[in-house]
Amino acid sequence: MKRSHPAWTLALLLALFAGAAGATSFVMVADEALVDGAEVIAQVTVESVEPAPIAGPPATDYFVQIERLLKGYVTGSTIVVRVPGGIGPDGIGLRIWGAPEFRVGGRTLLFLAPRTDGTYGVLHLMLGAFSELEVGGRRVAARSLAEAVAMPFTGADEPLRDFAGFVNWITDRAGGLNRPIDYYLDPALVDFRPRRGDRELLEDRCTQLNFRWSGFDRDEAFKWSFDGGGVDGRGGGRGAFLRARRIWKRVSAGAVRFQNAGAVRGRAAFDGFDGVNLLAFDDPRGDIAGRFSCSSGGVLSLTGVWFDNGRGQSCERVGTGHKGSHAGRPYLEILGADILVNDGAACLLAEDATLTARIFAHELGHSLGLAHAADPRAIMFGEVSEASAPERLEATEVSALGGLYDSPPSR
Ligand SMILES: [Zn+2]
Repeated sequence: MKRSHPAWTLALLLALFAGAAGATSFVMVADEALVDGAEVIAQVTVESVEPAPIAGPPATDYFVQIERLLKGYVTGSTIVVRVPGGIGPDGIGLRIWGAPEFRVGGRTLLFLAPRTDGTYGVLHLMLGAFSELEVGGRRVAARSLAEAVAMPFTGADEPLRDFAGFVNWITDRAGGLNRPIDYYLDPALVDFRPRRGDRELLEDRCTQLNFRWSGFDRDEAFKWSFDGGGVDGRGGGRGAFLRARRIWKRVSAGAVRFQNAGAVRGRAAFDGFDGVNLLAFDDPRGDIAGRFSCSSGGVLSLTGVWFDNGRGQSCERVGTGHKGSHAGRPYLEILGADILVNDGAACLLAEDATLTARIFAHELGHSLGLAHAADPRAIMFGEVSEASAPERLEATEVSALGGLYDSPPSR
């Protein structure tokens, strides 16, 4: 018998979040499940980064040198880790919130899923990548779960891990020796506070610019198409999407207008900038490495915004063609956006319309140019948890939205 009540969802979430932390919409994956789910786990150094030489959606290739292989096999000592999002040969960029980014020269622990083209995906995106950082004289492993301006930033309750201890524990578990976690650091011993600023929700870390949809200035609505299959393959989730659009409309005094452009079939999210802003389901192309599971978590959904990077193929060299300014601040113009719901997510989304509306609202916030919030109660906080349900924006979100879309005061 199937139960479909919020209570069911809450119980599930509480079970999943015991000891969990806090970025795109995801449910935290336990370290045990990460090790068991990854075909390859490696400690690497990032040698170089390049736009992926492929047709289709822009992606970024990281060439990484294997320092130590903790699980599985790879051929060669350097592999290519391909992350969705980047800048295409035509200068059109796709920014995906929730895709991990790596610093050249940095040491990283990667949980990997091999692809048929010989490249590797990072399992559960930012959940499967730990950077080595020096904190208070210790080497720690930390994830970037919130993509705030201040890197590094882990989630609200995300433990810091002793790097060497974590590596040893992974190696043991991958070899069949299951022992309790012994590498979490006492937060009292390690002073590790994220810096929070008033622009935390806004500025893109790479370009240092805000993204902004300028259609509202021209009195255009932001039109969204809904993949006819829906959350459950039978069109489910439409009502939740309407509720999600209303959340943003309510706070923006009519400045933000989302409009329904109807159902479509047979289009893929991120399939080039095609002028259709699409909410798509089931990740048919495998843009998200790893399936969502109601028993072990994972990435639920992510959003990419399209922008024109002009001639430069790196974010440091942003073209000037589609830069605008609003209230005295320069921004990158959002040309369009797509939302992709991961495969497997129906086990959660088809059960709870309120939670689903909250997740769609989070992704629509990205389409407006908002990044992740640090406040676990915020809709723009990436982790889905028991605190996630209310369809209400926090003051920081309202103010960030106002900064992007309110008319500047006349003077
Ligand atoms: Zn997000």
